[in-house]
Amino acid sequence: MARRKLNQQQKKRIRNAQDVVLTNSENHMDGLVISHHGGFILVETIDTRLIECKLKSNLGLIVCGDRVICEDTGNDEFRVVAIRPRDNLLQRIDGSGKIRSVAANLSQLMICLSAKPEPNLFLLDQYLLSAEHQNINPVIIFNKIDLLSVPEEDAYHLKSIYHPLGYSVLFISAKTGHGFDQLKSLFDNQTTVLSGVSGVGKSSITRALLPEVVIKIAEISAANEEGRHTTRTSRLYHLPNDGHLIDTPGVRGFNPLVESNQPVSAGFREIDELAARCRFNNCKHFNEPGCAVIKAALDHEITDSRYQHYLRLLDTG
Ligand code: GDP
Ligand code: ZN
Repeated sequence: MARRKLNQQQKKRIRNAQDVVLTNSENHMDGLVISHHGGFILVETIDTRLIECKLKSNLGLIVCGDRVICEDTGNDEFRVVAIRPRDNLLQRIDGSGKIRSVAANLSQLMICLSAKPEPNLFLLDQYLLSAEHQNINPVIIFNKIDLLSVPEEDAYHLKSIYHPLGYSVLFISAKTGHGFDQLKSLFDNQTTVLSGVSGVGKSSITRALLPEVVIKIAEISAANEEGRHTTRTSRLYHLPNDGHLIDTPGVRGFNPLVESNQPVSAGFREIDELAARCRFNNCKHFNEPGCAVIKAALDHEITDSRYQHYLRLLDTG
């Protein structure tokens, strides 16, 4: 935790130093990428203007959440000329196994599960690992508690497994509004992407968080063809208290990218902690003698599903 904080501070200091160098010009301004589609980039400038920009060639990939520098080329035309260094880039694996970028500069990944479809804890552990690898803080949301016979029960043991590991677990219902005050406060001062498999309620949650935006999209859709496109394009929305939600309609149920060049144990805090007590300091906790993790698993001191998922990811990594 302390290490991450220091990194963020360092990055901020570097950014501030760059600010002085790069924005010291009348026709250049800083902005935030709100959306990107069809070769056009919608940027919100620091003085909160929305401008449509073209992209300077060879800049490479640009995604929602990128901090950029725009140049006023005259006649009300703008182009993005630089992308500031990213804190992180959320990536996913598409249907054909290719790595795709989802959004940049996130602070929070909200992993949404539900009572129906039932939670897939392996997928949850993959999301957690992916978030840890990409330096994004994950939070776990369990939706549709109105479908549980005993709503306050810790169905599927989510709270008992993940809370002690330091993850927030929030039970909500997009149908009844249960837990929404707490849910809304989770977005304060964060840049968040909502993820989870199809049907868990991500669209319903997004609609509840952004009612006026949904109405606007519906109006555009009714008015012209382009509107339909708009609903599929990722877009950054402002929420109260300096919150940002990057909605990724086409890929909310994305497959998380698990980086093969980073340790699997990064997503398993309890295993990482025990590793210091293993006999070998390069222990993979698979079949090594003197392994504190294997012992803890046999003694049921760590959750069996977590250890099994660790081994499964070790195998695929
Ligand atoms: P998405 O695929 O994750 O975006 O899920 P949707 O928001 O489209 O929701 C899938 C279905 O679950 C829809 O029929 C919703 O009306 C329903 N749904 C969403 N939230 C809740 C909830 O809290 N309780 C119940 N009972 N149904 C819900
Ligand atoms: Zn070990």
